[in-house]
Amino acid sequence: MSTPAVHIDGLTHRYGTHLALQDVSLTIPDGCCFGVLGPNGSGKTTLFRILSTLMPPTQGSASIFGHDTTSQSHVVRTRIGMVFQEPALDEKLTVRENLRVQGALYGLRGTEVRDRIKSMLDRFDLSDRAGDRVDTLSGGLRRRADLARGLLHQPDLLLLDEPTTGLDPKARRTFWQGLDRLRRANGTTLVIATHLMDEAERCDEVAILDRGHLVVNGAPETLKSELGGEMLWLESADAPALRDRIEAQFGVDVQLIGRALQISPPDAPSLLSSLYEAFGDRIDSATVRAPTLDDVFVAHTGYRPDEEELQIVN
Ligand code: ADP
Repeated sequence: MSTPAVHIDGLTHRYGTHLALQDVSLTIPDGCCFGVLGPNGSGKTTLFRILSTLMPPTQGSASIFGHDTTSQSHVVRTRIGMVFQEPALDEKLTVRENLRVQGALYGLRGTEVRDRIKSMLDRFDLSDRAGDRVDTLSGGLRRRADLARGLLHQPDLLLLDEPTTGLDPKARRTFWQGLDRLRRANGTTLVIATHLMDEAERCDEVAILDRGHLVVNGAPETLKSELGGEMLWLESADAPALRDRIEAQFGVDVQLIGRALQISPPDAPSLLSSLYEAFGDRIDSATVRAPTLDDVFVAHTGYRPDEEELQIVN
């Protein structure tokens, strides 16, 4: 088996007495697009800081392509690129000047750096804006310029921490198209932290973090299919009472999540019509649908994160 892109073993991190990561172990294969999913405060940025060698973990270890992020941080840095929420660009410089500065940081010169800058500008559709100052660019163009910066030294692994925050859906799509082209052309491993379900769905594998714990990881389709077929969601003004009545009368397991009830029966449409007959006056709304990654989160944590924190974006 080839060396994994990332191997994390018993990783724990404390800020003072606050535990931000607790005993996280994980392996990310080379060439994978891997999503780290979780609500705000779940430990995603802490994990990314450790992987990008910005700080050592309190306990445990992380390695990138077999190199320890603490004792071999200088090697790790040559293999990784980073794109964080705030673009790491000098706003007073042009896009091309920013890329030249990045090239100089990695010791690239002459035709090599010129060729790479040209290919990055082409790849991210930035050629006609190369001479524009960054502070004149839209948010979407800035992110693409930052992606070009993070990739100029041709890293084997790109760490992206919520890179599409604040972008509109069109700019978000264009950003992801750039990532898809990059994967097809170079096979670069992508590790992307996100709280957006549609971005997580694009990944080969995801890990769900909750309050510093790794809750579950696997391919999105596998995680969803483990929840079974269709799920039934009900809303009621008195959800706890309705849950008790349904459990008593129909012998099914009903989960109370906020104001909603969730049931995973073998035949959701048929149970729904029986429930309407029995308790129609108590049901405010009902939905039957296939499980989403949001449901995977709920199933493994027992709660639904704040809707603003874990969103489905179309
Ligand atoms: P996420 O990226 O998922 O929002 P973070 O890794 O930023 O999560 O934070 C995880 C936890 O650690 C949160 O409870 C956060 O408040 C806390 N935390 C993050 N950075 C610091 C810091 N520098 N000092 C103290 N606590 C921190």
